[in-house]
Amino acid sequence: MATLLDAPTTPTPPTLPLVPVDGNGAVSVRPARGVPRRGERPVGLYDLALPELTDRLVALGAPGYRARQLYAGVYGRLTADYAELTDLPAALRAELAATLPLTTLAPVREQEADGGETVKTLYRTFDGQFVETVTMFYPDRVTVCVSCQVGCAVGCAFCATGLGGLTRNLTTGEMVAQVVGAARLARGRDRALTNLVMMGMGEPLQNYAATMKLVAILHDPAGLNFGARRITISTSGVVPKIGALAAEPYQVNLAVSLHAPDDALRDTLVPLNRRYPIAELMAACRRYGEATGRRVSFEYALMSGINDGEATARALGTLLRESGVLCHVNVIPLNPVDVLPYARPTRVGIERFAETVRAAGIPTTVRYSRGVEIAAACGQLRAEHMAAPQPAP
Ligand code: SF4
Repeated sequence: MATLLDAPTTPTPPTLPLVPVDGNGAVSVRPARGVPRRGERPVGLYDLALPELTDRLVALGAPGYRARQLYAGVYGRLTADYAELTDLPAALRAELAATLPLTTLAPVREQEADGGETVKTLYRTFDGQFVETVTMFYPDRVTVCVSCQVGCAVGCAFCATGLGGLTRNLTTGEMVAQVVGAARLARGRDRALTNLVMMGMGEPLQNYAATMKLVAILHDPAGLNFGARRITISTSGVVPKIGALAAEPYQVNLAVSLHAPDDALRDTLVPLNRRYPIAELMAACRRYGEATGRRVSFEYALMSGINDGEATARALGTLLRESGVLCHVNVIPLNPVDVLPYARPTRVGIERFAETVRAAGIPTTVRYSRGVEIAAACGQLRAEHMAAPQPAP
């Protein structure tokens, strides 16, 4: 079922103060006016870690403790409008409403699948780009799949997002907004958002600083208080950043999109493999496990006739057993993309593949991905939306 929230019109990007976003994901609160310069983005409240918000309020002449009240309102109670924060003075609410929007993302379209258990939301950014978020309701959890970039530079052969390359990184605030949107969706069904996976559009470890700031904001006990262990960061194999992630204070989970057990095949599916081949990737994963004591999930998108053969399954089992990485494999039957020549194997073939990997002693789970009928593979709804005729602004 498709629900158009505001189509055919599209929201007008808000006119906002512009601030530079530095390479560490930190945001200067210097207000600026005029034409955006390269690297400048509008900033919203969701971009600000608690100390930054405190500084901003103090600069406005408000006591610093108001920042915690704001966090409690916008994250604890999921308030969508400053006007509802009646524990703040009216003048401060008015000042914030005029100078610091909560978010710069606008929902454009929402689709449901799996009997309403999967909801895909398409957002428009301040600069007219589109990103997707998927919220999945399970009996025991509610998981949001967040996008971290507009497009992606990695260019995996089977992925709709990678087709057009990378347009830009998302800001922390644009990622936080997706999480808050999913939390509101869950609350509307008397559920709570419990898990977050960075498996939407983009490569999180190529937008590292903003992604780690997202984790910090979500983890803050004054706000959503989202446990780091409920957050999974997925990478196609950015080896140096796997080492950086191991050194972070947050106990996030690491998922590595492997998709092939040898370099010849993986080079064709995940072009980043040419830069960081499998031996380097496995060494990085082993160091990550040794440093954190945490298990690595290897994701394996199963494609008919490409990487689903019996010999390939045995090679995968051997690779992982000999790697010494404490790991688990998630076999994910591919969500096909119309314009790409990859197909999902049969159910029998999928189960046989998983059983062969298990036989090598590697814990393996088949995960049938949600939302096939709404093109839940990352980037597909965006691709469809951009291909469709758009109304004149
Ligand atoms: S699968 Fe992930 S890393 Fe690969 S192109 Fe798509 S978004 Fe990028």
